Amino acid sequence: MVDTTQQNSLRPPIVAVLGHVDHGKTSLLDFIRKTSVASGEHGGITQHIGAYQIETPEHKAITFIDTPGHEAFAKMRSRGASVADIAILVVAADDSVKPQTKESIDQIRAAGIPMIVALNKIDLPGANAKKTQQDLAKVGVQVEGFGGDVPIVPVSAKTGQGVSELLDMILLVSEMKGLTADLKAPWEAVVIETKVDKGKGMVASVIVKQGNITAGMFLYEGSTLVGKVRAMFDEAGKRVDVADISKPVEVLGFTQLPGVGAILRETPYREATPVIISPVGPVAEVDALPDFLKPIDEQEKEKLTIIIKADTAGSLEAITHALGDRVVVVGSGVGDITEADILLAKPSHAFVVGFNVKARPAVEKLAQTEKVVYRTYTIIYKLLEELEEVISGMREVIAQERELGMGQIIAEFPYEKTRIAGTKVVSGRLARGDSVRIMRGEGELARAKIKSIRHGKEDITRADMGSEYGVLFDRTVDFAVGDAIIAVSVV
Ligand code: GDP
Repeated sequence: MVDTTQQNSLRPPIVAVLGHVDHGKTSLLDFIRKTSVASGEHGGITQHIGAYQIETPEHKAITFIDTPGHEAFAKMRSRGASVADIAILVVAADDSVKPQTKESIDQIRAAGIPMIVALNKIDLPGANAKKTQQDLAKVGVQVEGFGGDVPIVPVSAKTGQGVSELLDMILLVSEMKGLTADLKAPWEAVVIETKVDKGKGMVASVIVKQGNITAGMFLYEGSTLVGKVRAMFDEAGKRVDVADISKPVEVLGFTQLPGVGAILRETPYREATPVIISPVGPVAEVDALPDFLKPIDEQEKEKLTIIIKADTAGSLEAITHALGDRVVVVGSGVGDITEADILLAKPSHAFVVGFNVKARPAVEKLAQTEKVVYRTYTIIYKLLEELEEVISGMREVIAQERELGMGQIIAEFPYEKTRIAGTKVVSGRLARGDSVRIMRGEGELARAKIKSIRHGKEDITRADMGSEYGVLFDRTVDFAVGDAIIAVSVV
């Protein structure tokens, strides 16, 4: 468990085990898991979830990835997810350096993470520590006590000899590396394994790299919504309510399986638009704002305007009833989606939903030219689930967006129960009513609308490049100085 009382607490290291086939990777991982405090305490049935966390007798946690071999490690790296903090290179003392030992060394070097050599099978009569150390030096790994500084621990995965020293070494290297947890950051997790389980459906094992995950959270791979956390389980099959940093968990609730090595987040993530950091200049002073600019109640959500078409009057009624007052229905009926529905949807910007009905190609074409979005469903819960997501603003129904302008938040001012963002426009323009993405670093923090733009006491409609204004959003956004505001138009 991470000590959340501290700002920058140390986090458990994530360890990968690599090495030549038959040198004892699996045996070592099994021995460590079996003898650890944490798995003993759980008393549950051990599940293979691709990684596990142990607790040393000193109550320090270590996460081990037990996804087989260095192929998985390479896959994770190629996806840009350097999941491991430390690598254990297992070399059997009776077999010395072998081709996959070298491959593993290259992988570890490429990942740029520290290495600890576990000199395994020292219980065997044929074990030759000296020769192995010499062979390691020949491939560029100079171990401690042999002219180098790569830690080496003689172990036996069979008898357990040296294993606790290996764990101590992992903790020492981790402390020296100063692995800290940014507890305030939005969560990020790396996918280490995926599968389709008969009972659980699509599941992915992940390791939390930042922040923490709780049930109900959305799962985005890049800008694609791939699911919503339904439940999480640890390696003992125990339900986990909060998965915090370095914790491996099996996540249920995917509608689409993510790739191994993919990074999952709670909000959509796109390749960063380069953010131009402008010099901080004087920002317009913001005085009291008129009453009509009072912030909208946070609870008040935008309603979605829809047109519903269904195969029977019964299903139409059921859908309308289930959506309740969260939607505004501007049209509904029994039968296929027609041209008339598209033309009705256009002026009210309605979303057309079809249940067990079709849309002829001509209708599809019209929808494209009129830029009306429609979706058809054959499963009612899918329909409700997707609409739920649209309503909570988490799903981008309309795929393409054009950037109209960007601002940099350079100051903040309190205003009633909320705040105003002192913003410098660094490209294009920002205007009242614009839909904006508020970006923190490379991730999207929130979406909102510009409720008003203030320049001194003046309320203006538009701010152009180079100017500095106070921006008020239509809802409470937890922005900070340094965040960027990107105004987008849907095309
Ligand atoms: P992996 O392919 O690297 O995962 O290797 P395994 O863990 O499957 O081990 C290969 C074989 O070596 C198995 O028969 C193990 O029982 C044996 N083995 C692993 N570690 C040790 C050890 O420390 N001592 C002895 N005597 N045998 C070991």
